Amino acid sequence: MNADIAAASRELKGGGVVVLPTETVYGLAANALDEEAVRKIFTIKGRPLNNPLILHVLDSSWLERYSYVKKYSVRVEKITGAFWPGPITIILPKKAIIPDIVTSDFNTVAIRCPDHPIFRAVLLDSDLPLAAPSANPFGYVSPTCIGQVKATLGNRVKIMLDGGECTVGLESTILDITSMVPKILRPGAITADTISKVLEEDVIDYDAQIVSKSPNAPGQLKQHYCTNTRLILFDRNRNLSQYLAGKTAIVFMQKPKNVDGIAEKLQLPLKAILWFSDDGNLDMVAKNLFSTLQRLDSVHYDTILCERPQRTGIGIAIDDRLSRAAEKFKQ
Ligand code: AMP
Ligand code: MG
Repeated sequence: MNADIAAASRELKGGGVVVLPTETVYGLAANALDEEAVRKIFTIKGRPLNNPLILHVLDSSWLERYSYVKKYSVRVEKITGAFWPGPITIILPKKAIIPDIVTSDFNTVAIRCPDHPIFRAVLLDSDLPLAAPSANPFGYVSPTCIGQVKATLGNRVKIMLDGGECTVGLESTILDITSMVPKILRPGAITADTISKVLEEDVIDYDAQIVSKSPNAPGQLKQHYCTNTRLILFDRNRNLSQYLAGKTAIVFMQKPKNVDGIAEKLQLPLKAILWFSDDGNLDMVAKNLFSTLQRLDSVHYDTILCERPQRTGIGIAIDDRLSRAAEKFKQ
């Protein structure tokens, strides 16, 4: 076995925290059965205790250990069969073995099965369920490569495994399967339509307004994923001159046809005009979203202007992250 995996596993068994890659974003992991270890995650991130963590398991056979599955077994089998390992988290009634700190005293637990060989190797070797939020200070942009983690948490965690760039780039879809009609609590790469087809029943899609007010959706904060630099969103084809303020960078969803023309018209240097994807492919936008924002944030612009995506498919999740990131800069 790889020495890094063994070292991470040892650290986790000893009550430590480690940074691990997943296909969504990098995670800050601890043994979910060890209250003190989990507390370290909250301390390192500066995360409020009322913000529950997701439990990561090796496969669906682990569900019974930590949650009451029986009543929901039809839905669970369909979801896990279609999407696990993968970027979807399900909510289930929790068993007492899971300390309350993991679930912020809720009687439900959020569980996911990650699809990254390094994370999976650590789960297999340690045989522990791992609580793991994103590996960034609370409220900041999520990391999708190890460099981003080092830039913000570098000296606070001893073991950090590099698994390359995250392929999805957005946090998992969260699905509450305990409600009468299954309900999306956080949009992600796996959309309500896709889930509804697999479940062969209606699914309540994510609605930011309802979720942010609901006490049943802990941690779905209106303001999150924030850059330090002011971030302003604009709709496609908007006249941009009205938004220019100080040293500005602009990010488009796809490469504009006339970059030179835009630079000239707005009197911006070419390097201040960026795009998340060459052709507007939204999966690519998602993959590059957080890394582009963090890179721009380190350049010290006064303002980052960012185009909003079309709200279809994964565009709903991208727009969700961007809206929350821009929330604190709204006048
Ligand atoms: P993250 O902030 O990316 O670590 O994802 C964790 C999110 O999962 C939290 O912010 C909650 O919104 C959600 N979550 C975790 N546990 C529960 C739960 N028991 N019920 C509802 N949502 C949960
Ligand atoms: Mg996070």
